[in-house]
Amino acid sequence: MIAVLGSANLDLVVTVDRAPGRGETVTGRTFTTVPGGKGANQALAAARAGGDVTLLGAVGDDEFGRRIAALLTASGVDVSGLAVNELPTGTAHITVDGTGDNSIVVVPGANGTVARLTDAHRTAIDAAEVVLLQLELPLPLVEEAAAYARSRGVRVMLTPAPAVPLPPSLLAAVDVLVPNEHEAVLLAGVADPVAAARALAASGDVVVTLGARGALRVNGATTTDVPAFAVEAVDTTAAGDTFAGVLAVGLAAGLEWPDALRRASAAAALSVQRPGASSSMPDRGEIDAFLA
Ligand code: ADP
Repeated sequence: MIAVLGSANLDLVVTVDRAPGRGETVTGRTFTTVPGGKGANQALAAARAGGDVTLLGAVGDDEFGRRIAALLTASGVDVSGLAVNELPTGTAHITVDGTGDNSIVVVPGANGTVARLTDAHRTAIDAAEVVLLQLELPLPLVEEAAAYARSRGVRVMLTPAPAVPLPPSLLAAVDVLVPNEHEAVLLAGVADPVAAARALAASGDVVVTLGARGALRVNGATTTDVPAFAVEAVDTTAAGDTFAGVLAVGLAAGLEWPDALRRASAAAALSVQRPGASSSMPDRGEIDAFLA
């Protein structure tokens, strides 16, 4: 099983020709709402790829929370560990301008109330082969979960996003760190992503994702290229979450690293060819067909 401890948000997306300046009102073009949050996205990607997945976190007692839970359930994610509490479901308010640049305000809401590891979290982690973490829940909780999973011999995978400086004790409890190149550079304080990955690889495996250039796995002194598949990208939203979720499925199933990385790259390549986040994630059959 894969236990994802992470955020669930509703993304509220507006498109505009030009983002408003201070004090300014502009007329938007379109408005859409779509379930998101790195925790929910990684859980969906993993479940679609055939993983046995539980999402641990919290939503509010509101329409947004019910919609997210319904989508997760329909994709086979166990949401019994997704608490419903008194704060509203987390939201991400996203403005995409005519050039495709975006600006985002995240209101954590219910996500921010997941402050300590509960007995239900511990039970789920005990049953897992891999625990999948990101940094959209309170940092002390992420640290507690990583330390607990490590103490129980459960593999810990962390996507360090949004990038913040991390305590060395947290990095030391992580078996597989999966930053994108910006996160790797920021975490290591080294300008070159390859050097950054090497610096971060002291305590485990580091897989740095490099967008259309693929990824790199660093393990000790060994660096392995993970080529991207050449595809026509239309929307790279959640490519990293798809990659991480599917990598977790492969490792939890006992695949060798090259096979697990190839499946993660294939799933991410399929996802960038379709718009949206959760709507773009492939299922197991599509990944198999793509690799056949
Ligand atoms: P993030 O979304 O976290 O910034 P990346 O952009 O690095 O992550 O993408 C994650 C993975 O998705 C890459 O390692 C690669 O395998 C795949 N990917 C991303 N963009 C493309 C693309 N244009 N073509 C093919 N694969 C891609």
